[in-house]
Amino acid sequence: MMSMSKYLKGDKMHLFLFGSGGPFNNNKRVASCIGVIVAGEFILIDVGPGSYRNVDVMRLPVSYLSAIFLTHFHSDHIGDLGEANIMSWANGRTKALEIYGPEGVDKVVNGFIMAYELDSGYRIAHHGKDTIIPEAGTPISKKITITDPNEAELFFNRNGLKVYAFTVDHSPVNPAVGYRFEYKGNVVVITGDTKMTGDLAKYCNDADILFCEAISFDMINAMITGTAKLPDRMVKILKDIQDYHMSPVIAAGVAQEANVKKLVYVHVTPPLLNVTIEEKYLQGVSDVFDGEVVLGQDNMTFKLKPKE
Ligand SMILES: [Zn+2]
Ligand SMILES: [Zn+2]
Repeated sequence: MMSMSKYLKGDKMHLFLFGSGGPFNNNKRVASCIGVIVAGEFILIDVGPGSYRNVDVMRLPVSYLSAIFLTHFHSDHIGDLGEANIMSWANGRTKALEIYGPEGVDKVVNGFIMAYELDSGYRIAHHGKDTIIPEAGTPISKKITITDPNEAELFFNRNGLKVYAFTVDHSPVNPAVGYRFEYKGNVVVITGDTKMTGDLAKYCNDADILFCEAISFDMINAMITGTAKLPDRMVKILKDIQDYHMSPVIAAGVAQEANVKKLVYVHVTPPLLNVTIEEKYLQGVSDVFDGEVVLGQDNMTFKLKPKE
């Protein structure tokens, strides 16, 4: 365990992969959530179901949680939003959380505020306003507008940390965005959910770490054609999901084109229950991408030293 000050002071970028899984619940991976502590900010990118538990279990300085960036509003990316807000507040957060996301973020945030309104009231009544600061309990939604759909938008610029949002294609989920963090010469990109687009490599360019979504089309198709005959509606869904995600090899191609140093697979789907299946998920990746490949696991941590 590191002290709070060690994370929040200094000029390293600390990255935490709290949730490396996709929407299919399993015992190995919870849904999407990545943490960044840098420049005195503690930011979560997506808060999928089960992920906030990992944030708490890693004993991070949650009272300093400053913002949550949502890539889009599928349940596997937002399920723990209420939990993240109320638990960091109960643990001593003194400022309201800012929740950034594309159009629609206010609807999602207001829904969570309403759902947790009674709980918030109980806590203030029970512990008193000096212990549970009322103004800090209600999150503030911050809509990101990308003015030029072909360019990344700088929407967060504090203490040398610059964060850009860029448009991805997760249609019919519109808008959906990815995020690019730049700090002291280091670049970290999170794709969010997307299929391959002509611009994706541009947004990932020269990333030191790329957290890239990928679902194995081969494995999904093997489920469809396998001996266990799946219900028609399941087959329909397993086919549909392939039109708005990338396969691991397609993602590796993006990383290669973008000159990425370290590619971390996230949103890992379907669940990979043993090493043989993990190898199957990564099959063909090293033929396409020269850099370092990491199969994301929950609670992995990464550190980047400043370059400038
Ligand atoms: Zn999605
Ligand atoms: Zn997803």
